[in-house]
Amino acid sequence: MSIEIKDLSYVYSPGTPYACTALDKVSLTVDEGDFVGIIGKTGSGKSTFIQHLNALIRLQSGSLKVFGIDLSAKKPDLKKLRGTVGMVMQYPEYQLFDETVEKDVSYGPKNLGLSEEEIKGRVREAIGLVGLDYDEVKDRSPFELSGGQKRRVAIAGVIAMKPRVLVLDEPTAGLDPRGKREILSLVHKLKETSSPTVLIISHDMDAVAEHCNKVALFSKGKIASVGSPREIFYDDALLNETEMDRPAVVRIVKEMEQRGVILPERPVTRAEFVAAVKRWRDA
Ligand code: ADP
Ligand code: MG
Repeated sequence: MSIEIKDLSYVYSPGTPYACTALDKVSLTVDEGDFVGIIGKTGSGKSTFIQHLNALIRLQSGSLKVFGIDLSAKKPDLKKLRGTVGMVMQYPEYQLFDETVEKDVSYGPKNLGLSEEEIKGRVREAIGLVGLDYDEVKDRSPFELSGGQKRRVAIAGVIAMKPRVLVLDEPTAGLDPRGKREILSLVHKLKETSSPTVLIISHDMDAVAEHCNKVALFSKGKIASVGSPREIFYDDALLNETEMDRPAVVRIVKEMEQRGVILPERPVTRAEFVAAVKRWRDA
């Protein structure tokens, strides 16, 4: 097990009239290779939760272990942690700051204390991985790029650190459908090539159904349920209670069921849907 979170609670502004309980005894385990979808309504605690994973938010109560780094220890190895967990915050392009793309993407690896040569190689590779032409963009200001390109540069800055775990907070928010597809396929590529474990916060239920093997559904600071996309997205009581949408495939299957068409298996991805319909037709 690569990440183990137990009874994590978090209160913003504790002990003041503004105290706000954002997390209430949240527990989750993640295995290396998992692609975890974190879903839930706005304000349910998703961002607060994932910001614990690289200690952007310091532990108040509960325990948290990330690849052997124990954040409940007195002096957790934060440097090692930040090299292990790559965090792509919401609208990461707002955090671009340096005068050139090359310098911006170098920032993280520099903090890891790597050699100049290693940094240069990683930066070039990361910029290529996010689908930009290194020679074309390296000396440009990140601020003169398009919105989608800026976001890729910001993601390149994270993957240049070669994190074992990639955590993304709504990475497709605000992008057009094509931009969304491109970022999702990039995340897939990264998972396959460099960061085998991925946690992604998303409001796009189709994307979660399509890509994730595990779904954690947050509601009011708690995890209401953890399971496979099939377990989560066919649980009517759970989805109604937490006011969650269903992926398109699930909506269609439910409509078919209401009309008496019962597929041999309940699909969640489009490919599974096609296969299930074929089997139903041939049966
Ligand atoms: P989500 O990412 O699911 O939208 P958040 O983790 O951002 O949820 O928020 C969980 C709760 O914590 C919400 O009630 C939110 O208003 C509150 N909250 C988030 N950030 C802060 C903050 N910096 N100060 C005070 N309260 C906050
Ligand atoms: Mg959030």
